Amino acid sequence: MNLWFTEYQNQNLTIGCRISKTLHYEKTPFQEIMVVDTVQFGRMLLLDDVIQTTVADEFVYHEMITHVGLNTLPDPRRVLIIGGGDGGSVREVLKHRSVEKVTLVEIDRGVIEAAKKHLPEISCGLDDPRAEVIIDDGIKHVKEHKNTYDMIIVDSTDPVGPAEGLFGAGFYRDVYDALTETGLFVAQTESPFFNRDLISRIIGDVRSIFPMARLFLANVPTYPGGLWTFTMGTKRYDPMEVDPGGIPVMDTRYYSPEIHRTSFVLPPFVKELVK
Ligand code: SAM
Repeated sequence: MNLWFTEYQNQNLTIGCRISKTLHYEKTPFQEIMVVDTVQFGRMLLLDDVIQTTVADEFVYHEMITHVGLNTLPDPRRVLIIGGGDGGSVREVLKHRSVEKVTLVEIDRGVIEAAKKHLPEISCGLDDPRAEVIIDDGIKHVKEHKNTYDMIIVDSTDPVGPAEGLFGAGFYRDVYDALTETGLFVAQTESPFFNRDLISRIIGDVRSIFPMARLFLANVPTYPGGLWTFTMGTKRYDPMEVDPGGIPVMDTRYYSPEIHRTSFVLPPFVKELVK
Protein backbone atom coordinates (compact mmCIF):
# COMPACT_ATOMS: atom_id res chain seq x y z
CA MET A 1 0.00 0.00 0.00
CA ASN A 2 1.41 3.39 -0.96
CA LEU A 3 0.20 5.33 2.09
CA TRP A 4 2.73 7.70 3.68
CA PHE A 5 2.94 9.82 6.82
CA THR A 6 5.04 12.97 6.55
CA GLU A 7 6.35 14.83 9.57
CA TYR A 8 7.37 18.39 8.84
CA GLN A 9 10.38 18.39 11.15
CA ASN A 10 10.85 22.06 10.34
CA GLN A 11 9.89 24.25 7.40
CA ASN A 12 12.64 22.78 5.25
CA LEU A 13 12.86 19.16 6.35
CA THR A 14 10.50 16.20 6.43
CA ILE A 15 10.68 12.57 7.47
CA GLY A 16 8.36 10.15 5.66
CA CYS A 17 7.24 6.70 6.73
CA ARG A 18 5.19 4.19 4.77
CA ILE A 19 2.13 3.24 6.80
CA SER A 20 0.58 -0.21 6.73
CA LYS A 21 -2.32 0.53 9.10
CA THR A 22 -3.92 3.32 11.13
CA LEU A 23 -4.72 1.92 14.57
CA HIS A 24 -6.03 4.96 16.47
CA TYR A 25 -7.16 8.53 15.87
CA GLU A 26 -8.55 10.89 18.47
CA LYS A 27 -8.74 14.63 19.05
CA THR A 28 -8.47 15.57 22.73
CA PRO A 29 -8.65 19.07 24.27
CA PHE A 30 -4.82 19.10 24.09
CA GLN A 31 -3.84 17.50 20.80
CA GLU A 32 -4.53 15.02 18.00
CA ILE A 33 -3.40 11.51 18.93
CA MET A 34 -2.63 8.89 16.31
CA VAL A 35 -1.10 5.44 16.47
CA VAL A 36 -0.05 4.05 13.10
CA ASP A 37 1.76 0.90 12.05
CA THR A 38 4.75 1.75 9.85
CA VAL A 39 6.75 -0.62 7.68
CA GLN A 40 10.15 0.66 8.88
CA PHE A 41 9.66 1.37 12.60
CA GLY A 42 6.60 -0.67 13.55
CA ARG A 43 3.88 0.99 15.64
CA MET A 44 4.37 4.72 16.09
CA LEU A 45 2.74 7.30 18.37
CA LEU A 46 2.06 10.69 16.77
CA LEU A 47 0.86 13.83 18.58
CA ASP A 48 -0.22 16.70 16.33
CA ASP A 49 1.60 14.96 13.45
CA VAL A 50 4.90 14.83 15.35
CA ILE A 51 6.59 11.47 16.00
CA GLN A 52 6.79 10.76 19.74
CA THR A 53 7.97 7.20 19.90
CA THR A 54 8.12 3.99 17.88
CA VAL A 55 8.45 0.38 19.00
CA ALA A 56 11.70 0.09 16.98
CA ASP A 57 13.74 2.90 18.53
CA GLU A 58 11.96 3.90 21.77
CA PHE A 59 14.50 2.03 23.89
CA VAL A 60 17.25 4.55 23.09
CA TYR A 61 15.31 7.55 24.33
CA HIS A 62 13.67 5.89 27.33
CA GLU A 63 16.85 4.24 28.60
CA MET A 64 18.87 7.44 28.26
CA ILE A 65 16.37 9.83 29.83
CA THR A 66 16.14 7.57 32.91
CA HIS A 67 19.27 5.49 33.64
CA VAL A 68 21.94 8.18 33.24
CA GLY A 69 20.34 10.19 36.05
CA LEU A 70 19.25 7.28 38.22
CA ASN A 71 22.72 5.72 38.16
CA THR A 72 24.22 9.08 39.14
CA LEU A 73 22.30 9.03 42.44
CA PRO A 74 23.36 6.62 45.22
CA ASP A 75 19.86 5.70 46.39
CA PRO A 76 16.98 7.19 44.34
CA ARG A 77 13.64 6.39 45.97
CA ARG A 78 11.06 8.83 44.63
CA VAL A 79 10.96 9.72 40.94
CA LEU A 80 8.66 12.11 39.07
CA ILE A 81 8.08 11.93 35.32
CA ILE A 82 6.40 14.90 33.65
CA GLY A 83 4.75 14.00 30.33
CA GLY A 84 5.83 10.55 29.21
CA GLY A 85 2.25 9.28 28.82
CA ASP A 86 3.41 6.42 26.57
CA GLY A 87 4.89 4.84 29.74
CA GLY A 88 8.36 4.05 28.37
CA SER A 89 10.17 6.09 31.02
CA VAL A 90 8.10 4.49 33.81
CA ARG A 91 9.05 1.04 32.52
CA GLU A 92 12.75 1.94 32.69
CA VAL A 93 12.60 3.65 36.12
CA LEU A 94 10.98 0.51 37.55
CA LYS A 95 14.15 -1.45 36.67
CA HIS A 96 15.80 0.29 39.66
CA ARG A 97 15.19 -1.66 42.87
CA SER A 98 15.82 1.35 45.13
CA VAL A 99 12.86 3.22 43.59
CA GLU A 100 9.87 2.99 45.93
CA LYS A 101 7.51 5.09 43.88
CA VAL A 102 7.45 6.60 40.39
CA THR A 103 4.84 9.30 39.78
CA LEU A 104 3.82 10.11 36.20
CA VAL A 105 2.12 13.47 35.69
CA GLU A 106 0.67 13.57 32.18
CA ILE A 107 -1.65 16.33 31.02
CA ASP A 108 -3.57 14.20 28.48
CA ARG A 109 -5.30 11.01 29.63
CA GLY A 110 -5.86 10.11 25.96
CA VAL A 111 -2.13 9.48 25.41
CA ILE A 112 -2.02 7.00 28.31
CA GLU A 113 -5.10 5.16 27.10
CA ALA A 114 -3.90 4.97 23.49
CA ALA A 115 -0.49 3.68 24.64
CA LYS A 116 -2.05 1.04 26.92
CA LYS A 117 -4.17 -0.22 24.04
CA HIS A 118 -1.73 -0.07 21.13
CA LEU A 119 1.79 0.06 22.62
CA PRO A 120 1.72 -2.52 25.43
CA GLU A 121 5.47 -3.20 25.27
CA ILE A 122 6.10 0.49 26.05
CA SER A 123 3.25 1.18 28.50
CA CYS A 124 3.62 -2.08 30.46
CA GLY A 125 4.91 -0.39 33.66
CA LEU A 126 1.91 1.92 34.09
CA ASP A 127 -0.10 -0.64 36.07
CA ASP A 128 2.81 -1.60 38.35
CA PRO A 129 2.07 -1.15 42.09
CA ARG A 130 5.08 1.19 42.40
CA ALA A 131 3.70 3.46 39.62
CA GLU A 132 1.29 6.30 40.31
CA VAL A 133 -0.43 8.07 37.40
CA ILE A 134 -1.76 11.60 37.84
CA ILE A 135 -3.60 13.48 35.09
CA ASP A 136 -2.50 17.08 35.55
CA ASP A 137 -0.24 19.82 34.27
CA GLY A 138 3.35 19.07 35.26
CA ILE A 139 4.07 22.77 35.70
CA LYS A 140 1.41 23.00 38.40
CA HIS A 141 2.49 19.71 40.01
CA VAL A 142 6.10 20.80 40.60
CA LYS A 143 4.94 24.12 42.07
CA GLU A 144 2.82 22.21 44.60
CA HIS A 145 5.48 19.66 45.68
CA LYS A 146 8.52 21.01 47.49
CA ASN A 147 11.48 18.85 48.51
CA THR A 148 9.74 15.66 47.37
CA TYR A 149 11.54 13.90 44.52
CA ASP A 150 15.07 12.50 44.21
CA MET A 151 14.86 12.68 40.43
CA ILE A 152 12.56 14.53 38.03
CA ILE A 153 12.37 13.47 34.38
CA VAL A 154 10.91 15.91 31.87
CA ASP A 155 9.70 13.61 29.08
CA SER A 156 7.81 16.24 27.17
CA THR A 157 6.64 17.07 23.69
CA ASP A 158 8.39 19.86 21.77
CA PRO A 159 8.29 23.39 23.29
CA VAL A 160 4.91 24.41 21.88
CA GLY A 161 1.40 24.30 23.37
CA PRO A 162 1.14 22.84 26.90
CA ALA A 163 4.83 21.83 26.87
CA GLU A 164 6.17 25.33 26.21
CA GLY A 165 6.41 26.17 29.92
CA LEU A 166 8.40 22.98 30.54
CA PHE A 167 11.41 24.62 28.84
CA GLY A 168 11.44 27.89 30.84
CA ALA A 169 13.63 29.21 33.67
CA GLY A 170 10.64 29.61 36.01
CA PHE A 171 9.86 25.91 35.61
CA TYR A 172 13.48 24.89 36.29
CA ARG A 173 13.35 26.94 39.51
CA ASP A 174 10.24 25.04 40.61
CA VAL A 175 11.95 21.76 39.65
CA TYR A 176 14.90 22.74 41.85
CA ASP A 177 12.54 23.30 44.78
CA ALA A 178 10.62 20.06 44.15
CA LEU A 179 13.85 18.04 44.35
CA THR A 180 15.32 16.70 47.58
CA GLU A 181 18.61 18.11 48.86
CA THR A 182 20.84 16.04 46.57
CA GLY A 183 18.37 15.55 43.70
CA LEU A 184 18.75 16.00 39.97
CA PHE A 185 16.59 16.40 36.89
CA VAL A 186 16.92 15.30 33.28
CA ALA A 187 14.96 16.78 30.38
CA GLN A 188 14.83 15.99 26.69
CA THR A 189 16.16 19.15 25.04
CA GLU A 190 15.82 18.63 21.28
CA SER A 191 18.29 18.57 18.40
CA PRO A 192 21.81 20.03 18.48
CA PHE A 193 21.49 20.68 14.73
CA PHE A 194 18.08 22.37 14.62
CA ASN A 195 17.48 23.80 18.12
CA ARG A 196 20.83 25.42 18.90
CA ASP A 197 19.53 28.66 20.42
CA LEU A 198 17.08 26.75 22.60
CA ILE A 199 19.77 24.41 23.95
CA SER A 200 22.21 27.25 24.75
CA ARG A 201 19.45 29.14 26.54
CA ILE A 202 18.40 26.07 28.55
CA ILE A 203 21.99 25.32 29.62
CA GLY A 204 22.38 28.97 30.72
CA ASP A 205 19.13 28.87 32.69
CA VAL A 206 19.93 25.55 34.37
CA ARG A 207 23.43 26.77 35.27
CA SER A 208 21.99 29.86 36.88
CA ILE A 209 19.75 27.73 39.13
CA PHE A 210 21.67 24.46 39.79
CA PRO A 211 25.30 24.16 40.92
CA MET A 212 25.95 21.91 37.91
CA ALA A 213 24.46 21.55 34.40
CA ARG A 214 25.41 18.72 32.03
CA LEU A 215 24.48 17.94 28.44
CA PHE A 216 24.54 14.42 27.01
CA LEU A 217 23.68 12.80 23.69
CA ALA A 218 21.97 9.79 22.17
CA ASN A 219 20.89 8.73 18.69
CA VAL A 220 17.17 8.44 18.09
CA PRO A 221 16.59 7.74 14.37
CA THR A 222 13.01 9.04 14.23
CA TYR A 223 13.77 12.43 15.82
CA PRO A 224 14.88 15.36 13.62
CA GLY A 225 18.50 14.80 12.65
CA GLY A 226 18.81 11.65 14.77
CA LEU A 227 21.28 13.09 17.29
CA TRP A 228 19.37 14.19 20.42
CA THR A 229 20.28 16.14 23.56
CA PHE A 230 19.35 15.65 27.18
CA THR A 231 20.07 18.28 29.83
CA MET A 232 20.72 17.49 33.48
CA GLY A 233 20.65 19.91 36.39
CA THR A 234 22.12 18.37 39.53
CA LYS A 235 22.46 19.63 43.11
CA ARG A 236 25.33 17.42 44.26
CA TYR A 237 26.25 14.34 42.21
CA ASP A 238 28.13 14.70 38.93
CA PRO A 239 27.11 12.12 36.27
CA MET A 240 30.60 12.41 34.76
CA GLU A 241 32.19 11.25 38.02
CA VAL A 242 30.20 8.00 38.22
CA ASP A 243 32.46 4.94 38.39
CA PRO A 244 31.36 2.76 35.42
CA GLY A 245 32.44 -0.32 37.41
CA GLY A 246 29.82 0.51 40.05
CA ILE A 247 26.88 0.68 37.61
CA PRO A 248 24.68 -2.40 38.09
CA VAL A 249 24.14 -4.83 35.21
CA MET A 250 20.83 -3.82 33.64
CA ASP A 251 18.50 -5.22 31.04
CA THR A 252 19.09 -2.49 28.45
CA ARG A 253 19.81 -2.29 24.71
CA TYR A 254 21.42 1.15 24.37
CA TYR A 255 22.48 2.29 27.84
CA SER A 256 25.55 0.64 29.35
CA PRO A 257 28.33 1.74 31.73
CA GLU A 258 30.45 2.72 28.69
CA ILE A 259 27.58 4.69 27.14
CA HIS A 260 26.98 6.43 30.48
CA ARG A 261 30.50 7.84 30.24
CA THR A 262 30.73 8.47 26.49
CA SER A 263 27.34 10.15 26.16
CA PHE A 264 28.95 13.20 27.84
CA VAL A 265 31.70 13.38 25.19
CA LEU A 266 30.46 16.22 23.01
CA PRO A 267 31.62 16.96 19.47
CA PRO A 268 32.99 20.53 19.15
CA PHE A 269 29.84 21.82 17.43
CA VAL A 270 27.79 20.69 20.46
CA LYS A 271 30.40 21.81 23.01
CA GLU A 272 29.92 25.34 21.65
CA LEU A 273 26.38 25.26 22.97
CA VAL A 274 27.40 24.65 26.58
CA LYS A 275 30.24 27.21 26.76
N1 SAM B 1 9.49 10.95 23.73
C1 SAM B 1 8.74 12.04 23.33
C2 SAM B 1 9.39 13.04 22.45
O1 SAM B 1 10.40 13.65 22.84
O2 SAM B 1 8.92 13.20 21.32
C3 SAM B 1 7.88 12.60 24.39
C4 SAM B 1 6.75 11.65 24.55
S1 SAM B 1 5.52 11.90 25.70
C5 SAM B 1 4.22 11.19 24.77
C6 SAM B 1 5.21 13.62 25.80
C7 SAM B 1 3.97 13.92 26.62
O3 SAM B 1 4.08 15.18 27.28
C8 SAM B 1 2.67 14.01 25.82
O4 SAM B 1 1.88 12.88 26.06
C9 SAM B 1 2.02 15.31 26.29
O5 SAM B 1 0.62 15.19 26.47
C10 SAM B 1 2.76 15.56 27.59
N2 SAM B 1 2.76 16.95 28.05
C11 SAM B 1 2.95 18.08 27.33
N3 SAM B 1 2.89 19.17 28.12
C12 SAM B 1 2.67 18.72 29.39
C13 SAM B 1 2.52 19.38 30.65
N4 SAM B 1 2.58 20.70 30.77
N5 SAM B 1 2.31 18.59 31.74
C14 SAM B 1 2.25 17.23 31.65
N6 SAM B 1 2.37 16.58 30.47
C15 SAM B 1 2.59 17.30 29.36
